[in-house]
Amino acid sequence: MRRLSFRTIFDAAADAMLLANGNGQIAWANDAAQQLLGYAEIELHGLAIEMLVAPRYRKQYHYYQKLFLSRPTQRGLNAGNELVALNREGKELLLDISLSPIKIKQQTYILMIFSVAKRRLDAEEALRASEERLRLAKQAADLGIFDYDFKRNIVYWDKQMRKLWGKQSEKTVSYEEFVAAIHPEDREARQAAIDKAMDPDSTGEFKAQYRIINPNNGVERWISARGRVYFEDGCPHRLIGITRDITEQKNTQKKLQVQRGETENILKQQVAVRTASAIAHELNQPLAAISAYSEVVLHALNNDNFSAANLKRALEGCVEQTQRAGRSLHELLAFLQKGELVTERANLTDVIHEALNIVYDDGYGRFHPVLHLEQNLPAVQCNRVQIQKVLINLFRNAVEAMRTMDLPILTIITKVQIMHEKDCVVVIVQDSGPGLDPIVTKRIFEPFFTTKPSGIGMGLAISRALIEANGGQLWLDADAKTGAKFHFTLPIVS
Ligand code: ADP
Repeated sequence: MRRLSFRTIFDAAADAMLLANGNGQIAWANDAAQQLLGYAEIELHGLAIEMLVAPRYRKQYHYYQKLFLSRPTQRGLNAGNELVALNREGKELLLDISLSPIKIKQQTYILMIFSVAKRRLDAEEALRASEERLRLAKQAADLGIFDYDFKRNIVYWDKQMRKLWGKQSEKTVSYEEFVAAIHPEDREARQAAIDKAMDPDSTGEFKAQYRIINPNNGVERWISARGRVYFEDGCPHRLIGITRDITEQKNTQKKLQVQRGETENILKQQVAVRTASAIAHELNQPLAAISAYSEVVLHALNNDNFSAANLKRALEGCVEQTQRAGRSLHELLAFLQKGELVTERANLTDVIHEALNIVYDDGYGRFHPVLHLEQNLPAVQCNRVQIQKVLINLFRNAVEAMRTMDLPILTIITKVQIMHEKDCVVVIVQDSGPGLDPIVTKRIFEPFFTTKPSGIGMGLAISRALIEANGGQLWLDADAKTGAKFHFTLPIVS
């Protein structure tokens, strides 16, 4: 055991060790140190440690060495002493070092133990990984990168951008050349965006979209550029940013815009047609009545057998129908313009009677109305004229349907029931006509759907809209055993 010399231990140590004299020259280097640095001991012998330090850190090292040698004390590993060494191949190694002063015959030696600093390796690895990630992300997102140096008036750009600008081989380009590829119509706006970002009072943010024209093939592409101006001593120094080819996106946008325009036109046309149809629907009936009254008058006059009283009645009929048409149009317009709906407390029994009278007066008289009204019906909140209109429409449809059959009596049953749980009343109008087949049932509320030769197909569509505007619902009972059975609800006055 006594023969185990310091040199033996030194050579056998797993950690890299150097023994340097008081001038910082290497006296010994163990195997691990030789391996780490890539030098043989003979090459290291007498070499100033400083020479193993990466040139850019030598000055710094020199200063610390002097400081240490003036007051040598032990410093363990992980005490924060680091050294960037160069191995024989010129590769930089970040080493943690421990320093132990040893006194041999009045001479001071320093034992240095090295270990490769894990931190830097990890950091380098992380940097490499993040660079790779960035590269992949850039590639995936089709991003180009540029760096516009204001002072030198040049633009550094990456491969992606060079490809778009049609200048594959040039790693930098003069700013003038860079701008030359930009569409003349887009240059001003783009320059204004740069000027704004260069203003020291701004956030330095730059954002622009512009077209570029590839000088080789004349192909035009849309570019979206974003970046930031960096300032030095308050002066704009450079603009660094990314670009993205957004040509496809722009094309899609344009197509969508055209489509949207077309759809809007179609919609406008449809609205116009629907409005015209709704007006026609409102005028149809009074016009037919006016025409009938006028024919009676003409006929009487032509045949010289008129009584003044009959003529008066017919002309009064004309006036009344004309006024009704005017009122209907007025209400329709108010409804279409979505003016505020004026509702009132209404007695449904009265409204039903009024509607029946109007249908009678219109010449639909040959039917038998049956009313089943619940006792003590509460008042409903509604626009009386609109509900009247719905009822008239349901009664007319019922009569028209029943007329297609050879029935001795055309019966329309109207029931009104209270739905307490829903705070509303339900009105049921049922005829004894042919009813509706399932295909027709599905479509009756569609605007313009009609099975009648002179029908417009707006009656039920408008009726449903009116009931909904009054806070209720209108539907067809598909399970009705006889004829067609329509239901609608209205809220009870609270
Ligand atoms: P129009 O009366 O102009 O046809 P509507 O919207 O009022 O327009 O009615 C649409 C269609 O619904 C009618 O053409 C008819 O086929 C059907 N319909 C409506 N009411 C009845 C009913 N009581 N019996 C049978 N079919 C009906």
